[in-house]
Amino acid sequence: MTICVVGHSNPDTDSVTAAIALATLLNAQGQDAKACMQSVAANLNPESAMVIERFGLTAPEEITDAAGKQVALVDFSDIAQGPAGLADAEVVTIVDHHKIGDVTTNNPILFRAEPVGCTGTVLNKMFKEAGVAIPKNVAGGMLAAILSDTVNFKSPTCTEDDKVAVAELKEVAGVSDTEELFMAMLKAKSSVDGVPAKDLLFRDYKDFDMKGNKVGVGQLELATLDQVADIREDLMKAMAEVKADGRHSVLLMLTDVVKEGTDLVVLSDDPALVEGAFGGKLENSSMWVEGMMSRKKQTVPNLQTAFGC
Ligand code: MG
Ligand code: MG
Ligand code: MG
Repeated sequence: MTICVVGHSNPDTDSVTAAIALATLLNAQGQDAKACMQSVAANLNPESAMVIERFGLTAPEEITDAAGKQVALVDFSDIAQGPAGLADAEVVTIVDHHKIGDVTTNNPILFRAEPVGCTGTVLNKMFKEAGVAIPKNVAGGMLAAILSDTVNFKSPTCTEDDKVAVAELKEVAGVSDTEELFMAMLKAKSSVDGVPAKDLLFRDYKDFDMKGNKVGVGQLELATLDQVADIREDLMKAMAEVKADGRHSVLLMLTDVVKEGTDLVVLSDDPALVEGAFGGKLENSSMWVEGMMSRKKQTVPNLQTAFGC
């Protein structure tokens, strides 16, 4: 039986390229394996599609039901993140870098999880240990995945092992400039071209209850603020519509991932309260907040404090 190697649902670049890499390794070791993903190629996120294209990889084929199949999991081990029928599949291998999930097996399997920034980093070690050369294009995919998962080494999840893997993989992949690769991926991921303003506001958006006040916070991660210069007015119009629908405040974080800060756009019944939360002054409804990158760890806690939650 062919082993289907598959990453988590809503696949990211690591899930896609790790499936390709592990299938390659298993095949080199005499097993019958193929890369799969929980998506059709047309629905792949723009970053992953760009990586597949740049390195001349073939997008994994879609797997919709794993029941009765032999599967190898990469980048996850939670049943909820797997394809339908996973509970009725035979899991034969897991390679991951997350907390251990709830997948169980009837037999002992190869289960390799390490607290590193990316599955690609673990797979790079596995290729070395097996004495199997990584094909150039596969190495490119793994390299891109590590840069993506570690946000070009800036994420707190990044480890020394990830940096070592990048140094090794860039040689194999023939990539001289990983900064350029990261920026190209970021631009693909953060592309706003032709996307309606309201869709952009809701691309990564959450509502919060702050002492009985409904507060919405959206975030767009950008390679440069220039990407949204022309659509700023449209974004504010969309924010005003959303605010008019019973919200005390609507914030949009325009995060410049390179400069490591956020242009915070604010529409609020109490602008002074929001200014106080971030120690800034709004001009034309926005202010630059140096170092603001995370809604979860920075924006929301400061708002909660300001609202007296
Ligand atoms: Mg992932
Ligand atoms: Mg990952
Ligand atoms: Mg990720």
